[in-house]
Order: sequence, then C-alpha cells, then structure tokens
Amino acid sequence: MTRDDIMKIIEEKNVNFFRLQFVDIFGFMKNVAIPRSQIKKALDGQMMFDGSSIDGFVRINESDMYLKPDYNSFLVLPWRKRDGINAARIICDVYRADGTPFIGCPRVNLKRVLAEAKELGYTMNVGTECEFFLFQQDEQGKMKIETNDVAGYFDVDPEDTGIGCRREIIETLEAMNFEIEASHHEVAEGQHEINFKYADALTAADNTLTFKWVVRSIAAKHGFHATFMPKPVFGINGSGMHTNQSLFSLDGENAFFDENGPLKLSETAYHYIAGILKNARGFTAVTNPLVNSYKRLVPGYEAPVYVAWSASNRSALVRIPASRGLGTRTEIRSPDPSCNPYLALAMMLQAGLDGVKNKLVAPESVNVDIFHMTPAEKQTAGIDSLPGSLEEALVALKQSPISKEALGEHILNKYIEGKTQEWNSYRTAVTDWETNNYIKKY
Ligand code: GLN
Ligand code: MG
Ligand code: MG
Ligand code: MG
Repeated sequence: MTRDDIMKIIEEKNVNFFRLQFVDIFGFMKNVAIPRSQIKKALDGQMMFDGSSIDGFVRINESDMYLKPDYNSFLVLPWRKRDGINAARIICDVYRADGTPFIGCPRVNLKRVLAEAKELGYTMNVGTECEFFLFQQDEQGKMKIETNDVAGYFDVDPEDTGIGCRREIIETLEAMNFEIEASHHEVAEGQHEINFKYADALTAADNTLTFKWVVRSIAAKHGFHATFMPKPVFGINGSGMHTNQSLFSLDGENAFFDENGPLKLSETAYHYIAGILKNARGFTAVTNPLVNSYKRLVPGYEAPVYVAWSASNRSALVRIPASRGLGTRTEIRSPDPSCNPYLALAMMLQAGLDGVKNKLVAPESVNVDIFHMTPAEKQTAGIDSLPGSLEEALVALKQSPISKEALGEHILNKYIEGKTQEWNSYRTAVTDWETNNYIKKY
C-alpha cells in the first residue's frame, strides 16, 4: 500500500474521518481522529500529539511526539459507514520531536527485536487464537455477569445465541481483509473463538489489536459486552491467546521444519523451544499481565500451569501442532488476550532467540498429563511451575536475563512500575471472597 493508493481509496470511498491509532505500554489502543483536510499532513507523519498524557510514555517537558503511519495498516471501517461517508484508520509508530523513533512505543520496540532476528537470518510468523466471552447487558447498557448462552465446545445454534453476532464480527473482519479460518463456540458458556490467518509478527500484533477492537465494537452493536478478561467467571474455562510461532529463513523456508529431524523438527526448533521454556517464568508478567490472569493459569481448565513441552498434550505450555512443512510451528499456550501483543511477541521472540543463539538444549518432551503427576515425579522430570500470581511474575520479570533486551529499559521500567501499582492496589483491597469466608467466622 502506497501513499497514492491510500489517497485513491479516500477519494473513491469518500473517507471523511480518519483515525490515527497507536498503542500504549499496557496494550490499550489509542486513537486521534482527524478530518479529511488533515489527511495529507497525517500521511506525511506530521501529526503531533501530547505524549505526556499517555500511560508510561514521557515526562511533561519532552512531550511533543509525532505519529508516523504505517501505510500497510490502512483500512476502511465497515461498521462506521453513515450516509455514504466512510471512516478509516491507520496504525502509527510514535516518533520523538527530533525525528527519531520513540523507544517507549511498543510497536517501535517490536520492530527493533524483529530487526535483531533478521540479523540472525530469521523472520517470525505468528498466529494468535484469541478467545473471548459475550456477556449480556441490561437496558441501561450496563454489563451483567451473565453469559449470553449455556452452550459448549463446538455447539451449534439455537444454543449458541451469539452466532448472529459472531457472524457479523466475521463479515466485518473479512471486509477489513482478514482471512478468517474458523470460528466456533468455545468450551465455556458464552465463550467464543475466531481464528484468522497467521502473518509476519508485526502484522500479527496489529491484527490482534484490531481484532479485539472489532469484536468489542460489533458485540456492542448486538447488545452484548465482549470481554478479553482472562478469567471472567470462577469455575469455568478462562480465555487464552494461544500464540503459534515459527521462524522462517530469509529465503522463505520454515526454519522449524526438517524432514529428517526427530518429529520432523529442526535443531533450530528445538533450540527455540528450549529458549521459551528457560525464559517462560520471566516473560509471564508480560504475556499474562493482570491480577486476574493468574486465576486462569490453574489446573482443570485447559490452561497451562507447568513449564514443559509436548508434541501433543494440551496441558503443556508448548505444544507442537501436527502440521509440518511451511505450517511447522510451536504453539505457546500460556498468553492471554489481555496482554499487549507487541510486548508479548517481543518477549517470546527474545526468549526463543536466546535458545537459538546459545544453542540451548530442549528438555525431554512430556507426553503424559502433567496434572496427574505427583510433585516428586514433576521434580524428577525437572518440571517447573509458571508464576502463581502477578507479584511472583513481576519478581521473575525483574530477574529475567532477557527482559531488558526484549523490552528496552524505558518500557521495562514503566511496565514494572505500573504493574507493581496494580498489584498493590489488589493486595490491599478487601474482596468479596474475604468477607464471605471470614466476617461471620471471626
Ligand atoms: N480456554 C483455554 C485456555 O484458557 C483453551 C481451550 C482450548 O482452546 N482448547 O487456554
Ligand atoms: Mg484454538
Ligand atoms: Mg480455544
Ligand atoms: Mg490452540
């Protein structure tokens, strides 16, 4: 997509509203809307904004920042069309007033890590599987903690009342050039999954951000509240964001595939797996960023708890899906969809590259259900646990040997600062669980 292509579409489709989007450190999409008269200026990267008001960006005295649009991310927004007038968006990198890329921008940071991978001879492909819940809303538009149905895995309508909404989400995404591969009702009541085609890591992060925005917007149109909160309801499955990832060589070959390797996996694949497992505890605060994330990572709900890999078993953190050839990949099952996809991919890629650069040796795969192993058996097999809380995860992030390389000092410090505040706010709150269990008994 070139600047001319974009200007042509703007004329043809009568785009009068143009949104410049970027992402903050905690993964929230930010948005500046401009009218048609400003579009040329925006496409030339001349739009300025005040960075000091964005969480974790900059101090007030150095706050002038510029938005540099990535032309490939230009899209007309199908659900914003009114009376023949269209709205469009473009995703931007944040630049400093002196014209250099801002290291605190998660997208700029991911590009930096991807450039490092390229120097080693690799590009990264990623496919995310974002699960989400649809909740009902009351007449005032307030969310009710009632799921929209009582259906389960792969159920069909009429049990699956979200199907009309899901269908419009898919049609909208398709109109925005997403290639949808499948969609289904997930295991829990009110839970859904829509899979879109993998892409290079940067595009995959953009797509994940866009996907969440579209799902929430279309659900609202249908009177539902869509949430990517990792564990919205106790006692049923939470929502994961399985992240399929592979390295490709610069000539377009899948670097994880080896016809003659064990399980038809290459040495590079084994090193990558080893790097992921070695650094898993350290990257969890980024892939699972909320207090609530750790209520998903418990036994019994198809979410991983232990640091292990398997060619098939779904209780493991890393699974190797059956496809080979260009589709050879690792599926990392711990991330959840509340994460900032740019930071999560930067951390996981850096973790995998740690394995590749240092030729780390992957432990034996575990092909039994780890949830049924005794603590002694787990110890003998050298199987560690993921952090049990955001607090534990933050300790591991601080100790992680790759976190500074993966996030850069600016993002790492701001991230730890923000998340420590979040943990402290939770730690000192008195919850319903406590009043229910203690107030009468003591
Ligand atoms: N919802 C499960 C999780 O939390 C995954 C279920 C599945 O896709 N098989 O990761
Ligand atoms: Mg899936
Ligand atoms: Mg799923
Ligand atoms: Mg999966």
